[in-house]
Amino acid sequence: MRITTITNWAYGITVVLTALSGAAFILSSRSALEERAAAEQHLMLDTLAEELALGAEVTSDEARLYVMRGEARHLQAFQVREGEERRREAAAARLASHGLVPAEAQALLAINADAEELDKIERSAIETYQRGDKAAAQDLLFGPEHERIQEALLQTVAHFRDLTAARTTGELEAARARSNMWSLVAKIMLAVTGALFVAVLYFVLRRRVAMPLKRMTGIVSRLANQDYTVEVPVDRRSDEIGEMNEAIEVFRANLIERERLDAERRADQHTKDLILQMMHRVQACQNQAELTDVIVRFAPQIFPGLAGGLYVLGEANMSLTRAGAWLEPQHSAAAFPATECWGLRRGRSHESSTNGSDVPCQHIAPPGIAALCVPLTAQGDMIGLLYFEEREAEALGPAGPRLYLELIAENIGLALANLQLREKLTMLAVSDPLTGLFNRRFLDETLQRHARDHRADPLACLMIDIDHFKRFNDQFGHDAGDLVMQFVGQTLRETCGAIGNAFRFGGEEFTALLPSLDEQGAADLADALRERISSVALSHAGQILGMVSVSVGVAASPSDGSVETLVTRADAALLEAKAKGRNRTVAASTVKRALP
Ligand code: GH3
Ligand code: MG
Ligand code: MG
Repeated sequence: MRITTITNWAYGITVVLTALSGAAFILSSRSALEERAAAEQHLMLDTLAEELALGAEVTSDEARLYVMRGEARHLQAFQVREGEERRREAAAARLASHGLVPAEAQALLAINADAEELDKIERSAIETYQRGDKAAAQDLLFGPEHERIQEALLQTVAHFRDLTAARTTGELEAARARSNMWSLVAKIMLAVTGALFVAVLYFVLRRRVAMPLKRMTGIVSRLANQDYTVEVPVDRRSDEIGEMNEAIEVFRANLIERERLDAERRADQHTKDLILQMMHRVQACQNQAELTDVIVRFAPQIFPGLAGGLYVLGEANMSLTRAGAWLEPQHSAAAFPATECWGLRRGRSHESSTNGSDVPCQHIAPPGIAALCVPLTAQGDMIGLLYFEEREAEALGPAGPRLYLELIAENIGLALANLQLREKLTMLAVSDPLTGLFNRRFLDETLQRHARDHRADPLACLMIDIDHFKRFNDQFGHDAGDLVMQFVGQTLRETCGAIGNAFRFGGEEFTALLPSLDEQGAADLADALRERISSVALSHAGQILGMVSVSVGVAASPSDGSVETLVTRADAALLEAKAKGRNRTVAASTVKRALP
């Protein structure tokens, strides 16, 4: 039940009880009036009865005095008293006809009759006296008949007074009881009204004021403690409490909005900080692998809702290869032709949306995936691609980090281009342009690095010289000589593979450094190299160049000597191989033994 209904009912009951209480008070006072009226009537009847008895007695006395003394004043007094007695009797007769119970009326009429009878005797006695018969007159007035009637009158008066007294006492008691009862009822109703009023007042104050205030205090203190999960209950009252409730609701909404904006600002600042950190590291990267590592570590922190990958454009700008990925992208191939990406084709960001409003990139499968391709460019040249796909819905939505993605792509593109250029320059600085092998300078650096950092580790060295190379130059020209040189260099690189590195030492001489191999292992590799070289018949400009052979000197460290003497010892072994007739492998250890 609603509070207003309860209070309305309570107010209604209070009003009714108050009215009833008032009515009970009126009834009580009316009973008191009745009580007084009964008392007054009793007094009046008592007085009347007494006057009737007394009047009859005085009239009789005056008649007796006149008869005895003969004085006229007694006759006059008799006549006056008799007149008064008549009036009293007439009043008593009127009273007997209304307002008295039958027994009382009968007694009053008997009194009147007795008085009348006495009057009749007394008048007859006075007439008898006036006729001169004094003795007869005195007999009448003092005779037994007059005595009897007078006695009867007094008894009837006493009886009447008893009757009225008994009735009045009953009426008085009844009226007093009624008055007391109504007074009690009125008091009880007043007490109930008061209690109800106090109860309603307590209920209203508690439910409508104290409880809402307490609740609001709790809400405000939770809001002060930044607990925005607190709910402000709806209270549509139009009083001060309702207004306060509404104000708290507005206050809470403002706080939540401010907190949301703060959180957004903090998240944005955090994203910016992460981007800045990533950029600092990107700028300090030495090579593409490091750059990829930095991006793979930072991208998922900056954009947790996006999986993605870094793709690098190949040499001929034909295909893209994934250099690194984060958060396991599912929908783009690890390598694909550059033409399959609309982002690369258009040279700007391209979104493959779920609603099919734009053409999807062909490297994304299945179509209908929300993905974004941001091309990496440097000075107008395409060099790669940043690919993003949604892990969480709406991560690429209008409120998504599109601007940041493009900013990052711009920086990564420049850094990647710089690194590629640097790697190209480094490669140029350390490689031989004719054979593509590392050059002599890089050989020296490699040996120094090994001597410095891995001195105790095994390292074998091959010194290779093409046999009678001059003949190719002389017989078929320098180009043919270059071809032979490139062939030997290529075969050496392939033979070394992942085991070691191949260098052009100078002229038609080559060097191979083979970590982890001992002298015997290196000699076996040298024999395999010679086998491969001599098994191919080269031709140049339609001319068969004939068989190419090489002589190889092998040395190892630290088993047979230091790193510093490694090349010298291998070279000595090579000279030995030449001396022994070429197209063979000589180990430095055998040369040493041969020396005195
Ligand atoms: P041997 O078996 O004793 O090594 O005889 P060889 O003819 O190979 O040795 P030699 O040192 O007499 O000849 C090396 C020649 O290699 C001399 C030089 O003209 C030639 N040469 C050096 N560098 C190049 C090059 O880059 N291209 C060409 N085509 N020839 C080169
Ligand atoms: Mg030579
Ligand atoms: Mg030679």
